[in-house]
Amino acid sequence: MKIRLPDGKELELPAGATARDVAEKISRSLAKEAVGAIVDGELYDLFKPLPEGATVQIITRKDPEYQQLFRHTLAHVMAQAVKEFFAKKGYDPEEVKLGIGPVIENGFYYDIDAPEPISDADLPEIEKLMQRIIKRNLPLRRYVLEREEALARYRGKDPYKTELIEDLPEGEEISFYEQEGFTDLCRGPHVPSTGKIPPHFKLTHVAGAYWRGDETRPMLQRIYGVAFRSKEELDHYLWQLEEAKKRDHRRLGRQLELFHIDPMVGKGLVLWLPKGNVLREELIAFMRNEQIERGYQLVTTPHIGSLELYKTSGHYPYYADSQFPPMELEDDEAYLLKPMNCPHHVRIYAMRPRSYRELPLRLAEFGTVYRFEQSGELHGLTRVRGFTQDDAHIFCTPEQVKEEFLGVLDLTLKVFGTLGLSDFRARIGVRDPNSDKYVGDAEHWAVAERQIQEACEEAGLEYTIEEGDAAFYGPKLDFVVKDVLGREWQLGTIQVDYNLPERFDISYKGADGEEHRPVMIHRAPFGSLERFIGILIEHFAGEFPLWLAPVQVVVVPITDRHHDYAQKVRAELEAAGLRVEVDERPERMNAKIRDAETQKVPVILVVGDKEMEEGTVAVRDRRTGERATKPLAEVVRNLVERVRTRARE
Ligand SMILES: [Zn+2]
Ligand SMILES: [Zn+2]
Repeated sequence: MKIRLPDGKELELPAGATARDVAEKISRSLAKEAVGAIVDGELYDLFKPLPEGATVQIITRKDPEYQQLFRHTLAHVMAQAVKEFFAKKGYDPEEVKLGIGPVIENGFYYDIDAPEPISDADLPEIEKLMQRIIKRNLPLRRYVLEREEALARYRGKDPYKTELIEDLPEGEEISFYEQEGFTDLCRGPHVPSTGKIPPHFKLTHVAGAYWRGDETRPMLQRIYGVAFRSKEELDHYLWQLEEAKKRDHRRLGRQLELFHIDPMVGKGLVLWLPKGNVLREELIAFMRNEQIERGYQLVTTPHIGSLELYKTSGHYPYYADSQFPPMELEDDEAYLLKPMNCPHHVRIYAMRPRSYRELPLRLAEFGTVYRFEQSGELHGLTRVRGFTQDDAHIFCTPEQVKEEFLGVLDLTLKVFGTLGLSDFRARIGVRDPNSDKYVGDAEHWAVAERQIQEACEEAGLEYTIEEGDAAFYGPKLDFVVKDVLGREWQLGTIQVDYNLPERFDISYKGADGEEHRPVMIHRAPFGSLERFIGILIEHFAGEFPLWLAPVQVVVVPITDRHHDYAQKVRAELEAAGLRVEVDERPERMNAKIRDAETQKVPVILVVGDKEMEEGTVAVRDRRTGERATKPLAEVVRNLVERVRTRARE
């Protein structure tokens, strides 16, 4: 048989040859280094016979695909170790039955039906057994069985594997991988021997998992593991995991009393508590000012709209699955909880004839919308059923798209930069040139796609182009932001829309006296305020910069006789517009300071005899690390300036 190498060279090999044979034919040293191959774009191991005429690229430990290979083999090694673990306890290893064990992001899992429950406390012991299997460098072997033979092996003994084999489509190859007597029904691919697995892994936790995700079927135990090429990568990941737990916005939201989700109020519906509401109001005020400076006009529209409106926009019935059902009244009247603000804004545009002189028309609203998310999908602030968008719609001519994009990019850079989210990239979604699902003029599409790219280049923004990622109604740009932990979040979107102007038949009178169709741009830099604040809580770990902090200053009087002066300090700070509390509890000073720190209040001002006499305060600033006694007036001036400039600190 013939195969082709990436450089175009052809090799002649005996029938049934594998990637190992290819590597050996190229060079001895490559054969030693090889861990797998990419065969016509698909990941293969060194065992699986190659198809005739395939293009084969050998991969080594340097290639990123290596991770997928060793993570999968590690799942097998873990299953083998779990069998050994129970054998040591006196069980027959056959009593440990295996479900499925795939590779997932950063690692792997295996679903296991064990004779005794496995707990997190057992994981270190299982890890030790795994390390031993890796050290012994056991070679793997792949073989194929006929269906009946394969079934005979498991029938009556292992219901899971029997079912998996029975479900394989007729004619599909049934392969097994084996190492030292441990055999698993498996499609592969794997590293050639257990010694090729880097020993940098960790079993993270055990969780219940229904067989095949079906709650009427048995509950298996799913052991999760993470695995990396180097110790540094593993350590970084584990640090990230630990840090993410500490920063979990649901936990901090409770601890700092920012928000509450009450089952009696409803699933996925957020109650903003006084302190959390400060965050919301501050962000809204920030965005409102920025928008007004950039020529946006603010509007307010209702929380519901007639069903007719959404039939015209197409949101109903096409997105009915993600909406609350319509409210039907008498006389054929029906309303929908607003799933999107756009149709309302279109009707503001359409209320009277428009001239090109009015364009671009930028209508902005902090509009609350409601979407139906499955209850299993709900998660703190990041997946909710009601949320407020920092929404705006720009109505413009096709030629104005680039300028408008530049404006939105500038606004977005300002917002993210102010919040310290400075590590981000843009993803531009354009048409799939081979599809005809798109509405609107092809020429306009081409122009808009070019304009978006040019805008990114002018703004100095790093971007990637994703073909086929556009909506059917227009190209778009998504921002992907990295937080301090290096986790990526998709935030604001800018979306060009040719569809709604068409559906609502809106137009403007051009300079030529003719009616033209405007282009609509949807944009929301935060996206949802709820989700955005959830991300900010984790990004800052609850330690907000001064301008955002729900309580900016706590004044701590050392004893009762300093209460009056503490109140005077409070009054001056409040008069300057700062958010202040005085801690007058009969606690010791150190306890009060500790409590303010637990609440992550940025500035603590301690006042005692000396401060009272001199009109000063003792500053303890968590954000800047400053500790000094200063005149009160100076402290006020400094804090006000930091808030005014929304200092990053
Ligand atoms: Zn497998
Ligand atoms: Zn919209």
